[in-house]
Amino acid sequence: MGIFTGLTAQGAFTAKPYFESLNRLSPHPPGSENHKKVCEYIQKTLISLGWEVQTHSFSYISPYDGPQEGTNIIGLLRGTQESTVAFGSHWDTRPVADQDPDRKKRREPVFGANDGNSSTAALLSLAEMLAGSGPLDHTVYLFFFDAEDSGSSSSSYCIGSKVFVEEWDISTVRFGVLVDIIGSKSLSLPYEGYSVRAAPNLSENIWDYAAKEKRIPFFRKNTGPHVIDDHLPFLERGIPFVCLIDFSYPWWHTTEDTPDKCSLMNIDMIVSLLFDIAVTPSKFYPSF
Ligand SMILES: [Zn+2]
Repeated sequence: MGIFTGLTAQGAFTAKPYFESLNRLSPHPPGSENHKKVCEYIQKTLISLGWEVQTHSFSYISPYDGPQEGTNIIGLLRGTQESTVAFGSHWDTRPVADQDPDRKKRREPVFGANDGNSSTAALLSLAEMLAGSGPLDHTVYLFFFDAEDSGSSSSSYCIGSKVFVEEWDISTVRFGVLVDIIGSKSLSLPYEGYSVRAAPNLSENIWDYAAKEKRIPFFRKNTGPHVIDDHLPFLERGIPFVCLIDFSYPWWHTTEDTPDKCSLMNIDMIVSLLFDIAVTPSKFYPSF
């Protein structure tokens, strides 16, 4: 990959240790022992990097596993100004591989290397980069949402983020970027349909910057599918929240969503982009 130059300024940083730790604790669907361990791991990691951590607990009924307790984890890097840019990922993995081509495997859990771990590792790597980059005037939030991926119909996905926007004060969030399924070796990122409709300028600014300034090869300026994901509760409240998601991933919701399908270089490129958005938000959203 000779064309990508965007990591040179932050070349020492990689999501590798976070991705590997999350994979060691996978699958981690809600209710599992690994789910508890990952919840602790994310909090401990953020605290060790100097971030303030808050948690937001909620109860819900999973269509697959019955009554569950969920935990959204919030990392805060407070600036002198309240204006906040937010980044989001879901940290849970899906309890059922219902898209597996082998019918016998459809009740097994999804490992979630790409769907869950790639984006969660990206946010932890972003936390490390921001911790080492000096103080910012504005505030940065990292949202790790639980219970995104236990849906059986459109209304039972994204439980954690839905409850979160109702119960947590998000009034200072000017805009946000959600990442999900961003680790594929053959990553391809068209505009996500809801994002580009609700936040066309922010979407275009991110895509243009990624392609032209960062020379990241997998941003495509066509509109891909409309994806129900954790950015929708924010869009419904009028907060621009753009979703980066590769919905062409062939192993989505199958037992084959494993680390060998993923590329750390691609995850690191996304982190490098997120870092620039975190540090210079007004470049992407001028009214920040
Ligand atoms: Zn999923």
